[in-house]
Amino acid sequence: MDSTTGKVIKCRAAVAWEAGKPLVIQEVEVAPPQAMEVRIKILYTSLCHTDVYFWEAKGQTPVFPRILGHEAAGIVESIGEGVTDLAPGDHVLPVFTGECKECAHCKSEESNMCELLRINPDRKVMISDGEARFSIDGQPIYHFLGTSTFSEYTVVHSGCVAKINPQAPLDKVCVLSCGFCTGFGATVNVAKPKKGSTVAIFGLGAVGLSAAEGARVLGASRIIGVDLNSNRFETAKQFGCTEFVNPLEHTKPVQEVLAEMTNGGVDRAVECTGNINAMIQALECVHDGWGVAVLVGVPHKDAVFKTNPIQFLTEKTLKGTFYGHYKPRTDLPVIVEQYLNGELELEKFITHSVSFSEINKAFELMLAGEGLRCIIRMDG
Ligand code: NAD
Ligand code: ZN
Repeated sequence: MDSTTGKVIKCRAAVAWEAGKPLVIQEVEVAPPQAMEVRIKILYTSLCHTDVYFWEAKGQTPVFPRILGHEAAGIVESIGEGVTDLAPGDHVLPVFTGECKECAHCKSEESNMCELLRINPDRKVMISDGEARFSIDGQPIYHFLGTSTFSEYTVVHSGCVAKINPQAPLDKVCVLSCGFCTGFGATVNVAKPKKGSTVAIFGLGAVGLSAAEGARVLGASRIIGVDLNSNRFETAKQFGCTEFVNPLEHTKPVQEVLAEMTNGGVDRAVECTGNINAMIQALECVHDGWGVAVLVGVPHKDAVFKTNPIQFLTEKTLKGTFYGHYKPRTDLPVIVEQYLNGELELEKFITHSVSFSEINKAFELMLAGEGLRCIIRMDG
């Protein structure tokens, strides 16, 4: 075992002290992993819009000081008591939602909502003892989504860690730990468009374009990208989008625009914006009789979904999903193999790369709507 096992590690982390204020790179102490936990050396992490929402804390509960970050790849440094399926040196992807493999959800083929380890953005401590593993001069620094990957070392419950093929390039497969799987799975596992069908994707960031990629792979013949930012449209063509609608360029509601384009509505819609109006539009734009809309975006904490129940009486279906309905420990290693076999193109999602010391630039890019995923290299 590693010589640091059981010891506190001092390392650099990017700490969010206040809502909307630049993260501060500073030394933190990372306690050893406790029962069923692992300590991971993070090598690459990337920024997802969910990190930005909780950093802004405009529509989410403010929790500070906190270490954000949940899309990442790294290597197990040490393991806590009771961990049997992971060992120091394993290449892993931490995931914001877990799989205990023992609860009714984990045993059911129909659910990825693990009773013990399902996503909980308001939880700020580890579940075993209610404590934070990060501290500065004795002051606790809180966790985020059970992952807190904006740190050179982090402690994660072993049920939220997928062990992957060590040959996989960690600077690429890190996007599988959230964005890609979330969008791709929302289409292939939940919306399930038939070959030749028409799919609308709301929001063309990395999550939405992964959803478009899923529609392309399943053989959808029309993939209509909907985004308020027209700069997204050129890039979206590489992900299979065949047509585009910018709601700001129309006087009619976007659901009417889509109905006119498609003779009554799209077969499937996948919402990847986090905006409540887009969520309602996604349901209202699907065809009656068979249309299915899937919500993926993380809503404002007070958002209310308001629509006329006739939307449902006319046999439309509304669903939602976390992590594209994948079970992280079971499914992620398989997806990594698919990538290694050349079945998935992850490179095209990675538009920027910065060193850890420049992490605030990744936030600026996302706020400006530029690029898809910005990889943050922890060694720089
Ligand atoms: P992003 O910021 O890169 O992309 C979002 C896109 O949506 C942007 O291009 C933006 O212009 C567009 N948009 C915003 N409001 C819109 C509207 N009303 N109509 C049309 N387009 C609109 O973000 P991302 O990282 O791709 O994440 C997308 C969403 O998915 C976020 O809400 C994020 O929190 C959520 N998410 C959910 C899960 C999950 O498991 N369900 C996991 C990861 C991310
Ligand atoms: Zn994410």
